[in-house]
Amino acid sequence: MKLVFATNNKHKLIELRKMLGDSIELLSLKDINCFEEIPETNPTLEGNASQKAFYVYDKFGYNCFADDTGLEIEALNGEPGVYSARYAGEEKSAEANMKKVLQKMGEINNRKARFRTVISLVVDGDENLFEGVVDGEILKEKRGEEGFGYDPIFQPEGFSESFAQMELSEKNKISHRGRAVQKLVAFLNR
Ligand code: IMP
Repeated sequence: MKLVFATNNKHKLIELRKMLGDSIELLSLKDINCFEEIPETNPTLEGNASQKAFYVYDKFGYNCFADDTGLEIEALNGEPGVYSARYAGEEKSAEANMKKVLQKMGEINNRKARFRTVISLVVDGDENLFEGVVDGEILKEKRGEEGFGYDPIFQPEGFSESFAQMELSEKNKISHRGRAVQKLVAFLNR
């Protein structure tokens, strides 16, 4: 079976190909000559994942899945949430985004946060959604050099290291995206 992953992110593609095995031929957007920016105009992670997967299915005729992720901070009423990539502006700077979070959090004691990923899978026009969540807390300052995005200021529950201090393989086992992908893979291999 051919399946498109609505991304051009090489890291995500490699990770998924490894997890899916040989029974599924995983294609990127480039592989199907989709070079346009796919709209993500929904106010929810579910809506955006769904919008991206159906865009590819409707326009290109391939079965497809798409993901969308947000960092949800309790004391900030769920911000930055669906706006995580561009929280501090359209340039999508991880540094500026972290700075904004740290400033807004100031000395607030409730530092509870979670990463949430939603994957929408569209096969023959039918949709299934998969969710992955990792609970944790926002640190008071950046720690670690690995990873990307908000990793240096997020520490998962039960660990004394930030995501940016973990090996990628260790992070993937417990991460929001890792958990959502495990559910997707179990569904596809059922
Ligand atoms: P996307 O939906 O995977 O593109 O993620 C949206 C935004 O959430 C990214 O631009 C990052 O700012 C943030 N993000 C997603 N996944 C992670 C992660 O694993 N660590 C840190 N930040 C993340």
